[in-house]
Amino acid sequence: MQSIVLFGPPGAGKGTQAQRIMESTGLPQVSTGDMLRAAVAAGTPTGLEAKKYMDAGQLVPDEVIINLIKDRIKESDAQNGVMFDGFPRTIPQAEALASITEVSHVIAIDVPDERIVERICGRFTCNECGSVYHDTFNPTKVAGQCDNCDSKDFKRRADDNESTVMSRLTAYHEQTSPLADWYLSKGIFHVIDGDRDIDEISKDIIEALK
Ligand code: ADP
Ligand code: ADP
Ligand code: ZN
Repeated sequence: MQSIVLFGPPGAGKGTQAQRIMESTGLPQVSTGDMLRAAVAAGTPTGLEAKKYMDAGQLVPDEVIINLIKDRIKESDAQNGVMFDGFPRTIPQAEALASITEVSHVIAIDVPDERIVERICGRFTCNECGSVYHDTFNPTKVAGQCDNCDSKDFKRRADDNESTVMSRLTAYHEQTSPLADWYLSKGIFHVIDGDRDIDEISKDIIEALK
């Protein structure tokens, strides 16, 4: 089993690209952010523990995340590998991952900080199918209706506001970006310019995965 990691700052386009390349990779998307939001919504002990960190734009403790991932990759759809989105985010998480599955490619989506706030503050998703949109950069084709499933029910994340974004960016630079060197030294780190058209980025990612 070989997995892929989509790496990059909040709002880089990891989730957007994961949805687009799912067909060509054949691997399911595993987003720790989505898993944590589901746990918060369900009111599980993990959700209660995670919520205070998420609201503050801080990373949830490694132990919580590693346990979530260990359980997730036991599921039947994960047996040929998965596409991790937003995990790992610290060196201890990457070490834990290395001990449970092989990572063949780390795709780093590179977007400058000054783009991140505008991306995150305009993000919304379909409540039915999870498709990701942006008010300006990636709107629905028909106003108020999901392109993928026709739903008219959308949501915005509580942490997608300007002040929390700044904390999330700080957490990224201090705790997550050191992982780049860790993966570079393993020769599996591919940097993709993420400040371009969504389709061009998808093409480059698929090329890097060949
Ligand atoms: P991440 O999963 O890395 O946090 P998302 O995929 O949710 O990022 O994207 C963040 C926001 O930016 C969304 O509103 C999305 O529609 C938008 N977006 C994604 N890729 C691009 C791009 N290449 N150019 C402009 N906006 C983008
Ligand atoms: P984004 O890509 O926009 O930063 P995510 O959905 O990946 O958003 O993460 C939302 C929040 O969930 C993070 O700010 C953090 O609190 C928590 N989180 C998600 N994944 C991890 C992880 N691997 N390690 C620690 N915290 C995480
Ligand atoms: Zn939808």
